[in-house]
Amino acid sequence: MILKNLKNYNNPQIEEIIKNEHLPLYRAKQLIHWIYKKFATSIYEITELPKSLKESLSKEYYIGNIKLIERKISKDSTEKFLWELEDKEKIESVLIPDRNRLTLCISSQIGCPLKCRFCLTGRIGFKRNLHAWEIVDQFIQVSRLIKNENKKITNIVFMGMGEPLLNFENVVEALWRFKNLIEFSPRRITISTAGIIPAIKELPKKAPSVKLAISLNASDEKTRTSIMPVNKKYPLRELLKTLKEYPLKPRERITFEYVMLKGVNSSETDALRLAQMLKGIPSKINLIPFNPWEGCEFKKPDEWEVLKFQQILISHGYSVFIRKSKGQDILAACGQLKALYLCSTASTML
Ligand code: SAH
Repeated sequence: MILKNLKNYNNPQIEEIIKNEHLPLYRAKQLIHWIYKKFATSIYEITELPKSLKESLSKEYYIGNIKLIERKISKDSTEKFLWELEDKEKIESVLIPDRNRLTLCISSQIGCPLKCRFCLTGRIGFKRNLHAWEIVDQFIQVSRLIKNENKKITNIVFMGMGEPLLNFENVVEALWRFKNLIEFSPRRITISTAGIIPAIKELPKKAPSVKLAISLNASDEKTRTSIMPVNKKYPLRELLKTLKEYPLKPRERITFEYVMLKGVNSSETDALRLAQMLKGIPSKINLIPFNPWEGCEFKKPDEWEVLKFQQILISHGYSVFIRKSKGQDILAACGQLKALYLCSTASTML
């Protein structure tokens, strides 16, 4: 008989399993507690269960785990985790310490179908969507590893490999599990999207209320289409219209990410257009100077260009931050995740 992974079930489904086994309901609570709070990797680790129950459960179920293949630490203490999934595919997650925060950047797909020209993940192409449990398990496994170091994840961002809103159902299910099973506050979770308009409209209706980030990356249609092909299907103008209507709570803002590419989207005119464009949307802007990778045609702008760009936006009343590139030496920065799929000296060694 093929064993079933307990991490594939949500709260009511686990209760159902327990009922079907004619067990008291508190056993469901125990299972959930051990899987999602104590990060048990096997039914046999659940010391609260009697031996006979562990044995009978193990005849039908197991606790699935994504498998750690490699953990790399950057000079700036950013960490990158490479995981192998049950079908041998690979994904990466990045753990970013920043003052009192510890942010986990998770993947939602293997590869990515969007092919943004500046992003290395796009080069892999698209392999498949991650299941809800594989998304949540990145959190569980990292939490388990850092527990011994007395550390806890404070924030989650869907900014790893993939486009979360093209894996809508599984991402939404994962968000509910973060909220209900792990009891991680949705306000500390950010979904980042290249702008899948129908899914942006659905998100507030279907998911717990998480933060939204948009990878904007250009201030006009033509440039955006040339670097992000998704702009053909979901053009800037319609994206901005959708965001103007996006339901936000008081003081809530939409984060705009803007990868700065030298000579492409980083001029003063771009800054002025951007300031104009975002009028009426409660915004926070993150400028990300391009993180280079081998074979990419783009360059990062000079520091003065980035500062000038920031200054213009600030003078128009925006909050603008320059995102420090973390983990570049281990290819863990934005747009550098490839999970061994593309050849380079590092991946051919393995
Ligand atoms: N697909 C989603 C989630 C990925 S987030 C999205 O597009 O939002 C990855 C972020 O890194 C995006 O904001 C993207 O614009 C940015 N990025 C991609 N490649 C980059 C690079 N080489 N340098 C800097 N930022 C990059």
